[in-house]
Amino acid sequence: MQFFDLHSDTLALVGENDFFSPQAPINITYPKLLRGKVAVQCFAVCVPQTSVDSVLLGNEFIRRFDRITSEGNMPVILSADDVASASAQKPSALLALEGADMLAGDPDGIFRLYDKGVRLMTLTWNNSNPFAGGIGENAAGLTPLGRQLVANCHKLGVVMDVSHLSEKSFWDLTEVSPCPIIASHSNARALCSNKRNLSDDQIKAIAHLGGTVGINLYPPFLSDSGTAVLDDVIRHIEYMAALVGTEHISIGTDFDGVDNNLPRGIASPVDLPKIVAELCRLGYSTDAIDAICYGNAARVFTQVL
Ligand SMILES: [Zn+2]
Repeated sequence: MQFFDLHSDTLALVGENDFFSPQAPINITYPKLLRGKVAVQCFAVCVPQTSVDSVLLGNEFIRRFDRITSEGNMPVILSADDVASASAQKPSALLALEGADMLAGDPDGIFRLYDKGVRLMTLTWNNSNPFAGGIGENAAGLTPLGRQLVANCHKLGVVMDVSHLSEKSFWDLTEVSPCPIIASHSNARALCSNKRNLSDDQIKAIAHLGGTVGINLYPPFLSDSGTAVLDDVIRHIEYMAALVGTEHISIGTDFDGVDNNLPRGIASPVDLPKIVAELCRLGYSTDAIDAICYGNAARVFTQVL
């Protein structure tokens, strides 16, 4: 069994931590990707305009991505062929933009970032920006600039990610999507009422477009109590499996974006096989488990890239 992790914030932490050291106090390191059998790891550039110079810091995060992939000789996922040749023996990296703030309102800026390797894009973080409304404010939908940016992403073959979007932005995006979309790191709102989670109708819409939802391991998104164990992760998988089937569920850990606030017993990619063991015990077929851990995400990227 191998894994495709749709979301991490590790780029925020590899400025001061050694990605290749087994001792580095971060969730994701190269040795832990290998031990956890992660074949594809997404690395998000998350630089919302609210607090920082998003252009400057975004470029710094992309330099960090270039540095770890070249130092580690990690394959970078740029095409469907790259997805086909990805292997847990040699983890691949995929560059994601979480919030388009660093485009500074220019929808054509994505052409430059595509050249730098971006293949997954969330239009907003929680804040709204010139392209769309974010879930933190939850009012606006896609703006005319946002619609241009989405059209550019479709032209280039960049997967659109709805995690963090306002509900209006979500529905605006589904209306213009000719291809699968994903929610890289969001759970079911029916089980945990956090607004970052998805309603049943949203999960069904993602499934209808052929997309997939990455289960997020952050306890406040897993349980209204704010604390969580492995069973809470499984509960969200079982809920979505009953709602739309196992072919629309993936993993989006949010590792290194949650201040080590994780379900008991899960601290890094090394613990991901615990999800497999529990799904096995519950009687899920090997095919279904492989789809959740890897195949569904690989299908979407293969189709869109
Ligand atoms: Zn996020």
